[in-house]
Amino acid sequence: MKAKLTGKTAVITGGASGIGAAIARKFGREGARIVIVDMDGENAAAMKRDLEDMGISAMAVSCDVSDEKACHEAMRKIIDETGGIDILVNNAGITQRSSFRDTEVSVYRKVMEVNFFGSLNCTKAAIESIIERKGTIVVTSSIAGLGPLLGRTGYSASKHALHGLFESLRTEVSHLGVNILMLCPGFTRTNLQLRALDADGSITRHAQSTMGKQDSPDHVAEKLYRAVMKRSPILVLTLSGKAGYLVNRLFPSLYEKIIIKNFKKELER
Ligand code: NAD
Repeated sequence: MKAKLTGKTAVITGGASGIGAAIARKFGREGARIVIVDMDGENAAAMKRDLEDMGISAMAVSCDVSDEKACHEAMRKIIDETGGIDILVNNAGITQRSSFRDTEVSVYRKVMEVNFFGSLNCTKAAIESIIERKGTIVVTSSIAGLGPLLGRTGYSASKHALHGLFESLRTEVSHLGVNILMLCPGFTRTNLQLRALDADGSITRHAQSTMGKQDSPDHVAEKLYRAVMKRSPILVLTLSGKAGYLVNRLFPSLYEKIIIKNFKKELER
């Protein structure tokens, strides 16, 4: 049986690690040609070799998604080499864990530059090709993009902003055949916390508090693949993530209390 993504090109930002790497393997196994776009050029090249060892056609592009010009150059190169983009997964991201009262504004800017502007830059550079292919834009948000999260005001704000941008963009491009899918994972075992920013922009050593069972990147990728095939608008993951999403919509004050109870340790320094 022919794999469902045969002949499609999938570009995955932050594809050299964690959730992005799992998406690359899954979409590749389903027949897609994979392009890894990552700031970590060495890991991106290693990921390309791993994919090729699995028999997947792959390309690696070293690019910092917060650099607008670099994103345009990267997407131009990808379109020239592959002929066009069918799926763009805006997944590259960083996190921050520190109280609002302590956190320098520069940290907020950094998180917004990567998480929000990174997705904007790549989409802006790829949009005409995606429209031509009637393709899909995946945006990796988070449960923190759907409600509050104590100790991560910058991270949560960057993910909420993605919903504003991409759900509005959907109203402009859905009639052209483009699907936009907001991917909202719950806590997932990846390298994200190894680079979490502290109040002054250094890497935090403070232990992370989580809620519920952590997901695996491979499970996220499996679920995402099915949602892409169904052209779903949103995918909310993990039991506690789904419960939180629902409780926050119906009883926001209760959700606030649950968040404070589970995450207040983030403020204990
Ligand atoms: P990860 O750290 O394992 O992977 C992130 C990748 O993004 C890395 O390869 C890194 O090099 C790359 N990257 C970071 N900044 C970049 C930049 N400026 N330009 C290009 N590449 C850059 O983390 P992950 O958990 O796999 O994160 C992937 C996405 O999933 C992020 O957007 C994150 O916010 C989101 N997310 C993660 C979790 C979780 O619990 N791990 C939960 C919800 C959402």
